[in-house]
Amino acid sequence: MNQKSILIVGAGLGGIAAAAHLAQRGLHVTVLEKNARPGGRCDHFSRDGHHFDTGPTLFIMPHVYEDEFAALGTSLHSMLDLQRVDPTYRLVFDDGSHLALTSDLKAMEDQLEAIEPNSFEGFLRYMDEGHRHYREAMEHLVNRDFRTAGEFFNLRNVPLIFSLKPFSRHYDHMSAYFDEPRLKSAFTFQDVYMGLSPFEAPATFSMMPYTEMAHGVWYPKGGLYRVVEALMEIARQTGVEFAFDTAVKQIELNCTRAKGVILEDGQHLTADAVLANADLPYVYQNLLPSDGQAEQLAHKRYSCSVISFFWGVDRPYTALGPHTLFLADDYRANFDEIIRDLTLPTNPSLYIHAPARLDPAMAPAGEDTLIAVVPVGHMNEHEDQDWKALVKQARQAVFRRLELLGITDLDAHIKFETCFTPLSWRKRYNLARGSTHGLCHNLMQLGYFRPSNRHARYHNLYFVGASTHPGTGMPTALISARLAAQRVVEDFGISLN
Ligand SMILES: Cc1cc2nc3c(=O)[nH]c(=O)nc-3n(C[C@H](O)[C@H](O)[C@H](O)COP(=O)(O)OP(=O)(O)OC[C@H]3O[C@@H](n4cnc5c(N)ncnc54)[C@H](O)[C@@H]3O)c2cc1C
Repeated sequence: MNQKSILIVGAGLGGIAAAAHLAQRGLHVTVLEKNARPGGRCDHFSRDGHHFDTGPTLFIMPHVYEDEFAALGTSLHSMLDLQRVDPTYRLVFDDGSHLALTSDLKAMEDQLEAIEPNSFEGFLRYMDEGHRHYREAMEHLVNRDFRTAGEFFNLRNVPLIFSLKPFSRHYDHMSAYFDEPRLKSAFTFQDVYMGLSPFEAPATFSMMPYTEMAHGVWYPKGGLYRVVEALMEIARQTGVEFAFDTAVKQIELNCTRAKGVILEDGQHLTADAVLANADLPYVYQNLLPSDGQAEQLAHKRYSCSVISFFWGVDRPYTALGPHTLFLADDYRANFDEIIRDLTLPTNPSLYIHAPARLDPAMAPAGEDTLIAVVPVGHMNEHEDQDWKALVKQARQAVFRRLELLGITDLDAHIKFETCFTPLSWRKRYNLARGSTHGLCHNLMQLGYFRPSNRHARYHNLYFVGASTHPGTGMPTALISARLAAQRVVEDFGISLN
């Protein structure tokens, strides 16, 4: 009779996982999703036997998934058929040289020494530091929330300033390990996943190349959308109700509390609490009354965006491994053009994913499924970008880069093309400025400074997802969900198992 109810706005990874946690604690949970299917940015589509993951393609930080699935009462490995991708990436540089990032240390040694003598020793030291950063950052910054300033600005956290190197810039810091610019870029490009340039990212983020090398990059059979399906199975088993094609227009409030939501069709729904999984800046700008916070968020830094091409191709391109990354020599200019000028770099670094190398069922026999991702600035609030022209430029950049691998005929073998631009990201998932990773992760938007999982004024209004604490990425969305759910059950006085 006294069952508490919660409405969740959005069925992204954070929304689904939080729903499952809360239903397991006895809450009546309803998830309202504007799209026809769950997953948010972790989306997919199929056409003529070609299967595309349109958002994430890299399953990284496997231990986080293991822990979070365990926290949901199940085992990751019982739900997903995972294979390790090794080499993880094949990096291709402008001069045509290659580097395959692999857990095979002998192969790494041979490749690194050929690029820069004595660099293998630097690589081992860098991995050692990455290991420390990963361990300490996960324990002290990622896996916990900061409810008061005192919990963050605390004498106990002072050693982290020295050990995590938050004030050293990642790229500059690489000089301690390598001289060769190709190696500096090979072990810093991952900062773009945080929405940052390595020229501004804290050196703390050496934890990302470390986890990719040490814990591996994995692939669930059937593609990354299998993660969404697995979470949906858990959520449905716990009794969560989902309403798709159901857009929320407004979160209803009284002086101090959230009362419920108003849907686009005018329906009012009430609940004891509301949890917003839709991208946080969008929620403040569109679903909550204007009270100055939306303006504050508008002044924060947003991550970049991407132009993505999804190609069904009538022949296989086996010269392409599962994950190929073309890294530009003008590495710094690339980030400046994306982050400062909000445009497409003249000679962009770019990424190509060939899922059929990992799971042949992702393409029809004798054909291929290719995804090309070209990072680009997010939408400019002050001046429209010419997306049609930028898409054309990005497409040409992909074809030009493929020539380095001897692929010169892709254009002629494309059966169909689908393309996403920042306008698509905004329209499909309500991402502010079409920014694919939401608020970026610079120092002033991390830890205590990152928007919290609970509203400061409306104490039964909660937030989960990429632009909230702890940040972007699929595994992080699962942590965010657990932290937000924990906050709800504590506020409701429900005992934790
Ligand atoms: C191109 C791309 C590549 C990526 N690559 C990787 C990768 O390789 N590895 C990785 O770990 N991460 C990757 N990420 C990041 C990862 O996908 C996200 O961080 C994560 O999926 C975000 O989950 P979320 O919980 O914030 O929810 P979101 O995905 O933001 O979902 C929010 C949901 O809310 C819904 N919604 C919005 N407004 C409303 C409304 N008014 N009413 C109802 N519903 C609403 C949306 O439709 C959406 O379904 C990538 C992201 C993108 C876009």
